Amino acid sequence: MAKASKKAAAKKPANRPAVKKKAAAKQAGRKSGPIFPVMALIGIGLIGSSIARIARREKLVGRIQVATRRKETAAEARKLKLADDIGTDMARAVRNADFVVLCTPVGANADVMTAIAPHLKPGAIVSDVGSVKQAVIRDIAPLLPKGMHLVPAHPVAGTEHSGPAAGFAELFRGRWCILTPTPDTDRAAVAKVAEFWRRCGSQVEEMSADHHDKILAITSHLPHLIAYTIVGTATDLEESIKSEVIKFAAGGFRDFTRIAASDPTMWRDVFLNNREAMLEMLQRLQEDVSFLQRAIRWGEGDKLFDLFTRTRAVRRALIDAKQA
Ligand code: NAP
Repeated sequence: MAKASKKAAAKKPANRPAVKKKAAAKQAGRKSGPIFPVMALIGIGLIGSSIARIARREKLVGRIQVATRRKETAAEARKLKLADDIGTDMARAVRNADFVVLCTPVGANADVMTAIAPHLKPGAIVSDVGSVKQAVIRDIAPLLPKGMHLVPAHPVAGTEHSGPAAGFAELFRGRWCILTPTPDTDRAAVAKVAEFWRRCGSQVEEMSADHHDKILAITSHLPHLIAYTIVGTATDLEESIKSEVIKFAAGGFRDFTRIAASDPTMWRDVFLNNREAMLEMLQRLQEDVSFLQRAIRWGEGDKLFDLFTRTRAVRRALIDAKQA
């Protein structure tokens, strides 16, 4: 190939995706400019830093300001160049922000909101990423000054890792983001937050906070509780067996250890703040475990087989829905 045409060929692929992306966005009725001039993130761990990365890459906001609790985390986030302004002063981070996202553990929301409320810009949209939603509304809404808008959100995406280095821009791609506005939430604010998450790559759905907490209790919170229990039981075994559990860790146990490595603060706050739904799901789980216990005791293989056939179909449905 001649030098000039080689150059042209090398240039083409770099230009094409941008053009295609713009056209696809246009077709889907999406805008391509910034949605908010200034976004403030309170907390810059796995979720906060993933939001910062995708928002910057996709130019969803004009400027990103971050406040985190500890100086060490702020220094790490600064080293990773995650935002335009990074520190530990929450008032400074939110002062001129149009969109404020709380990316802290659910149990910290009331304190964070108390600290930032007097400094919010009039008309600002306040959102969050908490894994439970009724408690978030309970803790944040009463502290929200008049004229501000609360749009609670839960990106159903994550890993067992924490901190600013754990985040990545693709975390939300193809995952659901659930919005739980109350009936009196400003619809224009909801539409803007929905657009933000869509352009992060998520599919957006709205539901009531109460419904969200029930669904997530079974799909996310209960599996974490089971993983914590199984791995906890294994670590309580006598020393001789414990070392063999680690040595011969089979696929099943290994998968549980990954889930049970999730952040202790985050999950303590999730269980304590989704108490009713968790207790209801645990009650049902106990009944189902008793059913299996009985079937094993009395050699009722057909009952085990029927259940395992049904659960296998659930896995296949997940794969078909591209959520596996
Ligand atoms: P993370 O990586 O541990 O980061 C937590 C951030 O919150 C850090 O910036 C931390 O600050 C700050 N923080 C912790 N305790 C605080 C307190 N008491 N007051 C003020 N700031 C505090 O956590 P994450 O995984 O990003 O989770 C953040 C939120 O996302 C949680 O509400 C969680 O429910 C939700 N969520 C998590 C996942 C997941 O898989 N991890 C998925 C969906 C939603 P310092 O480091 O400076 O102390």
